[in-house]
Amino acid sequence: MEIVPVAERRKTRKINVGRVAVGGDAPITVQSMTTTKTADVEGTLQQIYALAAAGADIVRCTCNEIEAAEGLAQIVPRSPVPIVADIHHQYKMALAALDAGVDCLRLNPGNIRKPDHIKAVAEACGERGVPIRIGVNGGSLHPDLYEKYGGTVTAAAMVESAQQELAFFDDVGFDQVKISVKASSVPLMIEAYRELSKVTDHPLHLGVTEAGPLPNGLIKSTAGIATLLAEGIGDTIRYSLTADPVHEARAGRALLESMGLRERKNVDLIACPSCGRAEIDVYDVANKALEAFGEREIPLQVAVMGCVVNGPGEARDADLGIAAGNKRGHLFVKGQNVAVVPEDEMVEALVEWAEFMHEHGVEAALARADTVKAAREAERDRNLLLESQGDDANNTEAKIDLIRKR
Ligand code: SF4
Repeated sequence: MEIVPVAERRKTRKINVGRVAVGGDAPITVQSMTTTKTADVEGTLQQIYALAAAGADIVRCTCNEIEAAEGLAQIVPRSPVPIVADIHHQYKMALAALDAGVDCLRLNPGNIRKPDHIKAVAEACGERGVPIRIGVNGGSLHPDLYEKYGGTVTAAAMVESAQQELAFFDDVGFDQVKISVKASSVPLMIEAYRELSKVTDHPLHLGVTEAGPLPNGLIKSTAGIATLLAEGIGDTIRYSLTADPVHEARAGRALLESMGLRERKNVDLIACPSCGRAEIDVYDVANKALEAFGEREIPLQVAVMGCVVNGPGEARDADLGIAAGNKRGHLFVKGQNVAVVPEDEMVEALVEWAEFMHEHGVEAALARADTVKAAREAERDRNLLLESQGDDANNTEAKIDLIRKR
């Protein structure tokens, strides 16, 4: 049976943020934002490179002062990904960012309010072929709309804010626009995006604003963004976390990959949750493996399993895995045992096999292994564990017997 994880993607028009397309049939993209002072060119570029390595397709930098715009002029030509300038209150900063050569602007309609200013920015963008994101934010809604909707932030108010801004752009014939209607409340942002998607075909940038620190920020963002993506809504996403923005890029990328919306780029490390049968500290080995793979572009699913009794079976769909047993690590490729290594070399072996598989393929990996011997060794350790622990590693039956006797 074919698995259809998400609804068909809503049709939107395509715009170009530098060389990255957003909307239409373009892949859903991941965005993040730098936390450095934009005037600090080297520090900002360092962060941009880290974000790109972690999966960001587009990066936003604040342009809040003239020094930031000057910084952008040096950053944009050296950046590996398109740069969006975040403009808040001063429309002149938008013009300065355009002069710096940025690939997109983000305007908050709640902050730049004069129609003449908005139109001047849109005209300048039109001349340069630079798109704009209308970034409506529930927390900074225009006071008139806030009042109109009864002194409360509603989905309808956020959608109206975006439409008002779009009307200014229409007046000057500018349509290279993507839109976000973010709120810190997940149900509110979901409703706002659903309503917005009914009234516009501009690409939508999804996010839960001010989602907060890990892990709750991740959970809130995922709840909001994934719900919409599953409904076919959304063309580009950003996690807004109170954490190193590398977490944002990684999370965005992992979400899209896990929903089948982007090709895998880095290792997808899966691991069992551990239990009474575990022969190793699964958390420790999994974290060490995660660290060892880092941002290497090896698009394989790699499993770390706590015991050889159940591990290879439970992770048989992984490309590569390792399961512990009897102080040894049993490596398996696509469910077939391929090698046995000492327990303290498990992580090293995983990385070496992953690199080999990435370079030469599964068949070559199986061909270089003595699969019969490896399977025999695994069976031996599996039986030893079963003999010493029985079928029930947690001794449930013995515990129940004890409870009954008392
Ligand atoms: S049975 Fe083995 S593989 Fe499964 S959770 Fe327990 S330790 Fe991990």
